[in-house]
Amino acid sequence: MLTAKAYAAPSATEPLVPLTIERRDVGPKDVLIAIRYAGICHSDIHTVREEWGPITFPQVVGHEIVGEVTEVGSEVTKHSVGDRVGVGCMVNSCRECEQCRAGNEHYCLGGNTQTYASVDRDGTITQGGYSTHVVVDEDFVLTVPEALPYDAVAPLLCAGITTYSPLARWNTGPGSRVAVVGMGGLGHLGVKIAVAMGAEVTVLSRSESKKDDALAFGAVRHVATGDDGALEALRGSFDLIINTVSAPLPMDAYLATLRPEGALVNVGAPPQPLPVSVFSLIIGGRSLAGSNIGSIRETQEMLDFCAEHGIAPETELISADRINEAYERVLNSDVRYRFVIDTATL
Ligand SMILES: [Zn+2]
Ligand SMILES: [Zn+2]
Repeated sequence: MLTAKAYAAPSATEPLVPLTIERRDVGPKDVLIAIRYAGICHSDIHTVREEWGPITFPQVVGHEIVGEVTEVGSEVTKHSVGDRVGVGCMVNSCRECEQCRAGNEHYCLGGNTQTYASVDRDGTITQGGYSTHVVVDEDFVLTVPEALPYDAVAPLLCAGITTYSPLARWNTGPGSRVAVVGMGGLGHLGVKIAVAMGAEVTVLSRSESKKDDALAFGAVRHVATGDDGALEALRGSFDLIINTVSAPLPMDAYLATLRPEGALVNVGAPPQPLPVSVFSLIIGGRSLAGSNIGSIRETQEMLDFCAEHGIAPETELISADRINEAYERVLNSDVRYRFVIDTATL
């Protein structure tokens, strides 16, 4: 066993604390990564506070990981010692089901192995990226292009792929009219990526506070949805809406802003069911859909796309002793737009 320094949640109600954890020995297909930076995703907070169900403690979270390969197993061919690599939301899958064989391991029929709080193939609970080291099967390790800024790239591994995948699946390109609802960690990357794909992008957010940023990221328009009549004025405007908001929104009012055969894709997840009038879908043949991260192949494609187009997350770099404070700020939407932990401070 290898040991690693980490920051862990001792329970659902206590602050995170420093902890030494064990990592498995490097197997034939494994890569040992010295983690340099780890992003803080809202999912980390939901998980450690057991808002998405019970977990086993202590738990280290973090699924936006970048670092360097420091050791490889005897059968590893995809990565070498010294490579800059990344790990996102999953670290394994069954490899045998139709989805895995088709390269859609994120939709593995048996459920993929999540980077943290998931049962690993050796029966242990996976521990995430707020840590100095991690051992991961090479097939779930991404190559991080050197052109991407090392201390800011980590959020692409979750927030980046979560928005890139639906934009790509719905064929976003020049001429596409795309709306991004909510401009937080996910939304700000959705805007940058959609703009780089050639789309005309509108940001729909509650207030005017992020308008200047939205336009700086390349959006052509920012609409404050809290204003009276704001959505009504946008009827029939968009081919695709990416909804990153995890609070319930009036679905019918948003669906009405789609053009015929347009789609509203949810990547934010409100805990409660949303009421929808089926007429909102039938009229204009619109779709209401969801999307969950992306495949490993697609995640690599996204990293290469971001490198090519100079897209990087907007981040605030913090030391490990500020993780608990950062959680409170995430909950208050007080971050532009993602916290990244410098793991040298663990
Ligand atoms: Zn995430
Ligand atoms: Zn599978």
